[in-house]
Amino acid sequence: MSANVKANETPASESGEAPELTDGFHLLIDALQANGLNTIYGVPGIPITDFGRLAQASGMRVISFRHEQHAGNAAAIAGYLTRKPGLCLTVSAPGFLNGLTALANATTNCFPMILISGSSEREIVDLQQGDYEEMDQLAIAKPLCKAAFRILHAEDIGIGVARAIRAAVSGRPGGVYLDLPAKLFGQVMNAAEGARSIVKVIDPAPAQIPAADSVARALDVISKAKRPLIILGKGAAYAQADAELRAFVEKSGIPYLPMSMAKGLLPDDHPQSAGAARSLALKESDVVIMIGARLNWLLSHGKGKSWGEPGSKRFVQIDIEPREMDSNVEIAAPLVGDIASCVSALLGDMGESWAAPPAEWISALNDKRDANLSKMAARLEASVQPMDFHTALGALKTIIKQRPDIMLVNEGANTLDFARSIIDMYQPRKRLDVGTWGIMGIGMGAAVAAAIETGKPVLAVEGDSAFGFSGMEVETICRYDLPVCIVVFNNNGIYRGTDVNPTGGSDVAPTVFVKNARYDMMMEAFGGVGVQASNRDELTRAVNEALDSGKPTLINAVIDENSGTESGRIGNLNPQSVVKK
Ligand code: ADP
Ligand code: MG
Repeated sequence: MSANVKANETPASESGEAPELTDGFHLLIDALQANGLNTIYGVPGIPITDFGRLAQASGMRVISFRHEQHAGNAAAIAGYLTRKPGLCLTVSAPGFLNGLTALANATTNCFPMILISGSSEREIVDLQQGDYEEMDQLAIAKPLCKAAFRILHAEDIGIGVARAIRAAVSGRPGGVYLDLPAKLFGQVMNAAEGARSIVKVIDPAPAQIPAADSVARALDVISKAKRPLIILGKGAAYAQADAELRAFVEKSGIPYLPMSMAKGLLPDDHPQSAGAARSLALKESDVVIMIGARLNWLLSHGKGKSWGEPGSKRFVQIDIEPREMDSNVEIAAPLVGDIASCVSALLGDMGESWAAPPAEWISALNDKRDANLSKMAARLEASVQPMDFHTALGALKTIIKQRPDIMLVNEGANTLDFARSIIDMYQPRKRLDVGTWGIMGIGMGAAVAAAIETGKPVLAVEGDSAFGFSGMEVETICRYDLPVCIVVFNNNGIYRGTDVNPTGGSDVAPTVFVKNARYDMMMEAFGGVGVQASNRDELTRAVNEALDSGKPTLINAVIDENSGTESGRIGNLNPQSVVKK
């Protein structure tokens, strides 16, 4: 459908009347659609309300949220799942700032997204004359994202959108800010010239082929390993090179560890998975092959006690970002390129007969894995009441095993840490979680995007605190009737519900919430299904019913308020006062 503004029904050339016109609203829609960007996550308001309406009228899917941060998180996850930039649309100043948190988070996680914000008039903003929602948004966005652009003229919308798309998805993906002053939307231009100004980006994320000598160097290091280990990160999941990765892992015979969002790239019950022998694998390995994973805090920066003896490791790293190399430790064999190209090059040069790693290494890891799994099994099968994390997650683990194609969203402290290690994943890009920052509040945005982008049922496993950050979006989930089942692990507080105010005053401790809250009733308020689950059977039944029916559902899973530890597994990052007062 042409989105042009019809100045007249009769073509201009025949009637001699004014030529057909288009405007900023329609040019932006045309530019997005020409590049296959057909879904917008956002919150309407001045000056972008009409843009949302016109986008919907042009056949785009416009999903309105209750807060921009969740729309932004949805856009980021859409980018991660589709390799096209997810779009988030916000109003000026406060709406922009709300979306900016998600943009910064997307950039940190290497997810491609574009935050499009309306802004106030340049002339007034730059003279600081106090416009409605005045703010120099471009300047504020710049240090927090991969690239930031402002479009001032309608004829530049095509090229501006093209620049934003290429910046978001090429090389290391990330967040891009696009600043659109209110006046731009109403600017009018000749429709034919407008159509010519639209740019369809050709090959937005070109393959980046590794150099032959880097490939040879990497294979040399790998072939000399006695105790090699592969670490798969969410960059590997993003790359969608699933078949090549699996072929490389299996041909090499090297055990692998998935980072949390890389779980399922190969099924967690794959014989080469060292997931259940993680500590031993990190400590004892002598060559570590990083594939789309960074040596950041999540991997103790590649050094320290968890990595065994200093100097005991050599690293091979595959990454599209050259500057990632040597970020924390020396990389013996940097392999810069896209994962599909790098892994294919390794596979191609491994030859027909690649020697499997020494059997002692494999059996040491397998023994440890088997011991750890059997130690855990009894707790996961138990049915304690009130439920602890193991009972509740044991039930969910079984459900995911039976329904491996559903999407899993997971956030919280203990709810995250336990679920990450307990719930096995079997397919790529099914697990969406708190990512590189360990951020709370991604839950409902991720759940909405997962449902919209994949059409699959979504199970969101949420700590009661984590859920609170985006809880109002249950209305969004009900409004769009999305097949999302939220399980709130309700242990009455942050970490657990048992802290007390040492002064004996009437305020509760800072980590404690209302006791026995009924989160399920929030879902009922908007016409969804609410269920209170007090034991394993009730939880299993409720989740299965929700996933079968596809109805928006919130299950308030009552968890023992004594279970849970401070900051989950990262309590060591929490400074503690030693001064006694
Ligand atoms: P995790 O948290 O799972 O360890 P990270 O987000 O830390 O994963 O690391 C992902 C890495 O993957 C980033 O360094 C990023 O540059 C890289 N990456 C993303 N996409 C690609 C790709 N297509 N090819 C190669 N590397 C990629
Ligand atoms: Mg809690």
